[in-house]
Amino acid sequence: MKEEDGARWQQAREKVVWASREMSIRRLVVGTWGNVSTRVGDCLVVTPSGMDYMKLQADDPPVLDLEGRVLLGGRRPSTETPMHRTIYRHREDVRAIVHTHSPYAAALSAARQPLPPILEELAQMIGGEVRVAEYALPGTQELADRVVAALGDSAAAFLPNHGLVGVGRSVNEALLVCEIVEKGAMVYCYASMLGKPTVLDEEKVKWLRNEFLTHYGQKKTTPGEVPG
Ligand code: 13P
Ligand code: ZN
Repeated sequence: MKEEDGARWQQAREKVVWASREMSIRRLVVGTWGNVSTRVGDCLVVTPSGMDYMKLQADDPPVLDLEGRVLLGGRRPSTETPMHRTIYRHREDVRAIVHTHSPYAAALSAARQPLPPILEELAQMIGGEVRVAEYALPGTQELADRVVAALGDSAAAFLPNHGLVGVGRSVNEALLVCEIVEKGAMVYCYASMLGKPTVLDEEKVKWLRNEFLTHYGQKKTTPGEVPG
């Protein structure tokens, strides 16, 4: 191991521990379900299987190569490591993955209902509907392949009778994707009880997504430009 790899791996382990705690605090998981990973070069750092998130230490998450060989750490990696590895292999743009068992996402997944863009945040963060993968047992390569198929080039997919996976360019982004989808799923359930939720049309979804990616927040403006 090169010294600089060691430093990057340790930083990534700390981030993974932080995100897994946040996932628990924000009630996106109950108990030890769910998992988090981030890509570091050709490797990934993933939460250890079945450990109390509140007790996790920075040395607990193992470091693996993309073939699944443990390079560092004494804990057994998450049972969903095949899913994390398969997503990284198929999606060069993905640098972090958060897998939750949040209740409203699980409800839609059990009903096999995709989540359409009914909220502006969904259009901004996801840019389209959240699809439901075909069923497969947890921890299997079959589930990994089906999740990758449902994900396509989007940021989230439902795992049927199970939960949700969110991906992003950073751990913070993948976690936010999971929170926004959970909020969207909750609103969709309530709106469906009140009537038929109105789905934002394709043109609005495109505009919202584009504005969000190019202008939202503190993105640099050139001097003299009037921020839109
Ligand atoms: P791990 O504790 O092994 O990560 O498994 C939890 C889970 O969510 C399985 O789908
Ligand atoms: Zn799970």
